[in-house]
Amino acid sequence: MTLQHRIDNVEARIQAACTRSGRSREDVHVIAVTKYVSLDVTGAAIQAGLTHIGENRWQDAEQKWNAFHSDATWHFIGSLQSKKAKDVVGKFPYIHSLDRVSLAEAIEKRASSLQTKVRCFIQVNISGEQTKQGLAPEEVKPFLEQLREYPHIVPFGFMTMAPYEAEPEDTRPVFRGLRQLRDEINQHLSEPVQHLSMGMSNDFEVAIEEGATWVRLGSILVGKEGE
Ligand SMILES: *Cc1c(COP(=O)(O)O)cnc(C)c1O
Repeated sequence: MTLQHRIDNVEARIQAACTRSGRSREDVHVIAVTKYVSLDVTGAAIQAGLTHIGENRWQDAEQKWNAFHSDATWHFIGSLQSKKAKDVVGKFPYIHSLDRVSLAEAIEKRASSLQTKVRCFIQVNISGEQTKQGLAPEEVKPFLEQLREYPHIVPFGFMTMAPYEAEPEDTRPVFRGLRQLRDEINQHLSEPVQHLSMGMSNDFEVAIEEGATWVRLGSILVGKEGE
């Protein structure tokens, strides 16, 4: 399949998921995850109109970022070591993996010195799987309160990853869980934290039906080298 075919196919499926759930297409943003593909494919994806690019390791992203940083908006989606925050802040205006105070401190320090703000998604482990990163649901509200001490961090949304399921429908409780957590937390906040970063190649339609505002799509959208 060519890149344009992939894009058209994904677009049709996003549209259909929006229609099924009575949502507006404009409320769902697509991040093209380019971690599996080359510099050239990344450039082609941006040319084709995919202007939100996601990468999960700075070492792998560096070359692409240097080549295309002014042509796209960059999202850091992978888990981030605090000492690596300085590589990412200032280059990636969105970080999807904020899950601890030590990382918030590192992001704040760098963002403050650069006089920039970073939109952060708080990563939540809804499924409870040991191997998954993220705060436990009950830790999220106190964490948000702590974030008030970090004025260069904009609490922009929540992020979760569902376990891989052979039957995508089985991911629904995870995505629904994050949406319900958001809605519950927002009842107590004067400035609601609106966005939901959830849904990947295997499960994005279910995530959209459950309220995703950002989907992170790699293999299904830009492909995977070797496939
Ligand atoms: C790799 C990755 C994705 C995209 O994965 P696909 O299944 O190829 O769509 C999305 N989110 C995160 C955090 C990732 O690491």
